[in-house]
Amino acid sequence: MSTSFRFEPIEETPELRDLRAEVRGFLRDEIKAGTFKPGSGNMRSSFNPEFSRKLGAKGWLGMTWPKKYGGHERTFMERYVVTEEMLAHGAPVRAHWVADRQSGPVLLTYAQEHIKQKVVPQIARGEAYFCIGLSEPNSGSDVFAASTKATKTEGGWLINGRKIWTSNAHRSHYCIALVRTSPATAENRRHGLTQFLIDMKTPGITVRPIVNLAGHHDFNEVIFDDVMVPDDHLLGEKDMAWKQATTELAYERSGPDRWLETFFALHGLVRVAGKEPDDRLAEGLGREVASIATLRRMSLSVAGMLQNGQMPTNEAAVVKDLGTNWEQALPNKVRLLAPEAISAERANDEDFESVLRYATLIAPKLTIQGGTREVLRGIVARGLGLR
Ligand SMILES: Cc1cc2nc3c(=O)[nH]c(=O)nc-3n(C[C@H](O)[C@H](O)[C@H](O)COP(=O)(O)OP(=O)(O)OC[C@H]3O[C@@H](n4cnc5c(N)ncnc54)[C@H](O)[C@@H]3O)c2cc1C
Repeated sequence: MSTSFRFEPIEETPELRDLRAEVRGFLRDEIKAGTFKPGSGNMRSSFNPEFSRKLGAKGWLGMTWPKKYGGHERTFMERYVVTEEMLAHGAPVRAHWVADRQSGPVLLTYAQEHIKQKVVPQIARGEAYFCIGLSEPNSGSDVFAASTKATKTEGGWLINGRKIWTSNAHRSHYCIALVRTSPATAENRRHGLTQFLIDMKTPGITVRPIVNLAGHHDFNEVIFDDVMVPDDHLLGEKDMAWKQATTELAYERSGPDRWLETFFALHGLVRVAGKEPDDRLAEGLGREVASIATLRRMSLSVAGMLQNGQMPTNEAAVVKDLGTNWEQALPNKVRLLAPEAISAERANDEDFESVLRYATLIAPKLTIQGGTREVLRGIVARGLGLR
């Protein structure tokens, strides 16, 4: 069995603590100014371009990227502190989230120089938003079965096909899509796919809404009908995206967004519990806080490994699996803990009820988006040498 499966402890330095205090101060001011309501689960106004631009101006987007592309050459740990505080407060970060987390790094690694110079600074300023075009009606977990096709033509590629579950496609400027440029080979069924940077304003793109369980329009079906993409928008190497897309997934899976998405429900419970919860509630709260503290240490450890230039694919998969299972189970635990323990007056707290209702409705998706529970466990099993 492999023994290379490690979570080294990470200690927060005084500089990181100062940064955390600065971010908290900024968020307190934004809350006071009415920009967002903390602990509401991002359900009202999470897509807020003005807020994204403010973060860009503070230097809190593209934090680890080179200065020559608008980045700030700060560390992964500094970025971790900023993203953790944003999520724990429920700040409205949806607009820039994907671009800052994974599209920027993909462009920095695989895009041509002039594309990097044009697009990456827009992301760092909080002005360019991205969606991810991986899933198709017949290729979800098995992304390498994608059949949306790019055909070579004069000066570029004509794209035809359909992507599905594309979050924020209706309000993104660009999509990074995985598209078939050649058939798979007998030796490698992953061969033949290429990543493209697609401007969402290109003629031939139709974005159709899909309303989710919570009644919101977040993801979409995206149809490509003879969409012309210039040659210089091909990312990396033709037919070799199987190497690139898995790197992108390591960024997608490793952060605090994989265990903080229903955190606001715990926050709500603490609020209605008041200063003197009864023994049962105190014990329940203690258990959840202990779980989140452990997850947080593991997640920080993954950030530390990314900072050291390692690619902790297996560790990131474990954090996503444990984190998403915890955040998925949380709303029900909160509901079970709440009724007996809170006073009649607080039990009628409408805010708490609506927050809990929303957390319950988004819980099922948490173990699907970004790789399902079963697929992640398959990755972990392979990492442990079990398959
Ligand atoms: C809220 C949300 C947002 C999303 N946003 C995006 C987005 O922006 N862009 C994008 O491209 N996609 C997005 N997705 C799609 C998501 O990545 C896919 O839903 C996911 O990869 C699963 O694919 P599928 O739905 O086709 O299910 P399938 O792959 O058909 O899986 C069905 C079931 O079979 C299991 N299964 C599949 N393969 C295996 C295996 N090898 N071993 C064991 N079990 C297996 C799965 O675990 C699952 O339980 C989003 C999904 C959600 C829920």
